[in-house]
Amino acid sequence: MRLLVAEDDRISLLKIVSMLEKWGYDVVACENGLQAWERIQKEDGPNLLLLDWMMPGLNGLDVCRKVRALAREPYCYILLLTSRSEKNDIIRGMDAGADDYITKPFSPHELKVRLRAGQRIVDLNRELFETRNALKEQATHDSLTGLFNRPAILEHLTTEMDRRKRQHKNVCVGIMDIDHFKMVNDTYGHHVGDQVLQGTAERIHSALRSYDSFGRYGGEEFLIIMTDCDCEDTTKHFERLRRCLADKAMQTSKGLVSITSSFGVGVTQPGVDIDPETLIGIADKALYRAKSKGRNRVEVEVVGKER
Ligand code: GH3
Ligand code: MG
Ligand code: MG
Ligand code: MG
Repeated sequence: MRLLVAEDDRISLLKIVSMLEKWGYDVVACENGLQAWERIQKEDGPNLLLLDWMMPGLNGLDVCRKVRALAREPYCYILLLTSRSEKNDIIRGMDAGADDYITKPFSPHELKVRLRAGQRIVDLNRELFETRNALKEQATHDSLTGLFNRPAILEHLTTEMDRRKRQHKNVCVGIMDIDHFKMVNDTYGHHVGDQVLQGTAERIHSALRSYDSFGRYGGEEFLIIMTDCDCEDTTKHFERLRRCLADKAMQTSKGLVSITSSFGVGVTQPGVDIDPETLIGIADKALYRAKSKGRNRVEVEVVGKER
């Protein structure tokens, strides 16, 4: 467990650090509050803090307040070091965000058990934090491909369309459907079908730009949201995606499998007011057209202002 200690008295600091290291802590020693605050803000900042109250510049209370204002997760547990004279002010210390305090001079044993209590809180909180993140990941991602799942990509589309509307910019949404995918399953088995879905997701993902969004819309259907994509560029971008699947067979456990995909795209002219469902409906119709015209093709429908 990493632990940050801030104490302006050098001798006390050295004593505390050597004690903590003996107890197995990975100690970050700071000689004042400012140094501590800089260290805490770093990405890998410690979550267990032992802060002296009285320090020049930023004192322990100031650091407490700053840490709480930062509201970083997982939680930072703060143990305040006070001298006897400050003991009456302890309410102020707790009010500033400290979790506990210990009065100088303290017995090593007392410090040890109080730190252990703090460590328990930090560990519990970190577990909770990680579980919550894992649940969130599960709830928003498709387990087979790792892409956004249907609710997540639709939510993303709604957010993106609101943003684009405010900026008077266009939006472009494409539905991609693998052609004759049932045949892949029937010929090679469901397991290989899964591998093809994973391979498809990877290829499209790496062919997209970082600001495009991509999710699994249903079985062998995917949704692609492109921003900063002019109406004229739309076909070009989606043709690139179509080719990245059609031009090269996919490696699977049963050898190479060739697939193609059809794309139906709805793209709005800048400033067009349209809701996500309607735009998806337009993309879906375009997809139907791509299928009926022979598959392995891109059909784009531009939604103009006259709508
Ligand atoms: P089309 O060109 O008209 O789209 O033909 P298709 O065969 O791709 O379309 P259809 O809707 O008839 O079949 C889609 C198939 O996708 C049927 C279903 O079993 C398969 N599928 C859906 N989800 C998964 C999955 O997670 N894994 C695998 N292996 N197959 C899936
Ligand atoms: Mg001091
Ligand atoms: Mg389909
Ligand atoms: Mg299909």
